[in-house]
Amino acid sequence: MRYDVIVVGAGLGGLTCAALLTRKGLKVLVLEKDHHPGGTSYVFQRGAFKFPMGPLSFSYPGYVSSLLSSLGLKEPLEFRRNHFQLIAGDLDLVYSVAPKELKQELARKFPREADGLEAFFQELQQAMKLIYDIYLWHPDYLLEKLSPLQEKVVQTEYSESRKTRILSWSQTFSGDVLSKYLNNKLLVNFLGSIGTGEPVMSFLTLAMMWNIMAVEGIWYPSWGIHGISDRLAEIIRAGGSELWLGMPVKRIVVENGQARGVVTADDGFIGADWIVSNADSKTTFLELMEPAAVMGEFLEKVGNTPYTGSELCVYLGVEANRIDLSRMRATHLFYCARPGQAEENNPGTDGLNLESKEIEVCRWTDNEPDHAPPGYLGLILRVGFDYDHFARFRTGEKKRTPEYRAYKTALALKLVRVVETIIPGLAGATALMEVATPLTYRDWGHRYQGSIAGWSWRADWTRNFGRKLLVETPVRNLLLAGIYAASELFMGGVPTAMRTGELAASLILENKI
Ligand SMILES: Cc1cc2nc3c(=O)[nH]c(=O)nc-3n(C[C@H](O)[C@H](O)[C@H](O)COP(=O)(O)OP(=O)(O)OC[C@H]3O[C@@H](n4cnc5c(N)ncnc54)[C@H](O)[C@@H]3O)c2cc1C
Repeated sequence: MRYDVIVVGAGLGGLTCAALLTRKGLKVLVLEKDHHPGGTSYVFQRGAFKFPMGPLSFSYPGYVSSLLSSLGLKEPLEFRRNHFQLIAGDLDLVYSVAPKELKQELARKFPREADGLEAFFQELQQAMKLIYDIYLWHPDYLLEKLSPLQEKVVQTEYSESRKTRILSWSQTFSGDVLSKYLNNKLLVNFLGSIGTGEPVMSFLTLAMMWNIMAVEGIWYPSWGIHGISDRLAEIIRAGGSELWLGMPVKRIVVENGQARGVVTADDGFIGADWIVSNADSKTTFLELMEPAAVMGEFLEKVGNTPYTGSELCVYLGVEANRIDLSRMRATHLFYCARPGQAEENNPGTDGLNLESKEIEVCRWTDNEPDHAPPGYLGLILRVGFDYDHFARFRTGEKKRTPEYRAYKTALALKLVRVVETIIPGLAGATALMEVATPLTYRDWGHRYQGSIAGWSWRADWTRNFGRKLLVETPVRNLLLAGIYAASELFMGGVPTAMRTGELAASLILENKI
């Protein structure tokens, strides 16, 4: 059997692409390594609790719902806004609010910085105004033939001056803009990282981040993120395409510079006119293909580009009436006990200073009340960690040294104790605990070194590829879809995965029809 398109991976990027092509009458085969669709956009069960494998909520809900209704999904889809709070040093604020409100609140807390805040917010808001719909009109994001709506947007809103300013912001280091106006380190770090880290982004990426946080908002869909994955899988199957679960692709076959098909784990060859890889670009080009199939320069860039780091994630089932949640005023709380103190990453939990790290606490059952039994809550603690910290415990795929379990459990308990400062009673109220590390995200999430996304936050890497989207590749008839098909943040994880899936589908349709 030969297919029009083979999609490698059934994450949201692969599923979106396959569902759109199926609705247009193409015969698509989706091959997924795992035993469920959705990749990291899915849930798992532990005892009486359910927890998310990756995304907790996402941005651009308007884009996501219009894409889903274009696929014929008519069931009502509602979104719940998720809010974000930071507790760090003297700072305690909910910051997912309109820029004007945030500026006023910060000026109250830092009266000596009021003028600087005014000037900084003016520059930030100018940038936010120009980029909010960037994916609809900027040449870096427009790969396909424009729809009549896009033509209209480009004609009325696109201008050389707008493009020039965006280029200049993408080359401006956000730390330089902040230090022009502000002195207080905690404030500079907060505005420059939306947390407690030092500013590392370009001013453009910072404006995109603040636009997502303060204007677009971050939301949770009534179907659940896993529910979106399930519905996309249904569209694929109902439309006559195929989704094979538990079927890893071993190799993408390229002949004379053109993708011809794939070899599956059982050594079968399956041919197709197009291949869309939903695996990350390092896996796609460095592991699934013969090196000679791709130009050396491109391969080098793929190999050298850093991805974001990974994380330690502690899933907790807790007795609701035994903890004090009064300091938590939003679904997501970021907490850093000792901001500004150097992080220690020495192996061994005793030497590890978790107080200096920024810890996210998510009240998961705010979004999914049915994911815990009555009287209990599902809480998630996440903290950034490098893969290298855990690498010594991995002896093979899904294989660990005997010390691994005790180490990750001790680390998780240490994290719970740090969080107990702001959620009293947490350790005693915990009825269930599950721990994921960068090794989990590598072996179960199939993420390169457990990474969360395929870009670096650092300003110095932003133009490595000379363009933002990597959907088109140097191999003919091979496209990428998914979060790793963006070399820089632009819409946030879930919408980026779906948007790149949509772009891959439209590039195929333009060539086919
Ligand atoms: C821990 C974590 C937290 C996150 N939190 C958020 C969040 O809060 N909000 C947000 O918007 N985003 C978040 N993200 C990013 C999130 O993963 C994406 O937004 C979205 O799920 C990405 O979808 P995708 O299709 O790009 O990739 P994936 O979900 O990774 O899907 C790729 C699929 O390809 C399959 N695959 C890979 N190689 C092969 C192969 N050789 N053969 C067959 N199948 C293969 C994998 O098994 C997987 O199913 C998070 C990610 C992680 C890991």
